[in-house]
Amino acid sequence: MNNPLLLLIIIPVTLIFGLLFAGDMSKTVYTCQCCGHRFRAPWYKFLWNAHYDTDKIMKCPKCGKRNECVISYDQKL
Ligand SMILES: [Zn+2]
Repeated sequence: MNNPLLLLIIIPVTLIFGLLFAGDMSKTVYTCQCCGHRFRAPWYKFLWNAHYDTDKIMKCPKCGKRNECVISYDQKL
């Protein structure tokens, strides 16, 4: 079955959900384990990140060290 109309529905819906997901991810607050600095990672960082678990190896914007940054669930900086 080849239905172009179905594709026209699926593509925008996928894009919308993708944007919502990216927007939600960029709200996540991370804590640097080296200096304790709290920061938000831009959404595009997730495109480069191979990790899908809760802790991510990221570069801290304050001390500049690459380390495992822990997700903070209170979402406040
Ligand atoms: Zn740091």
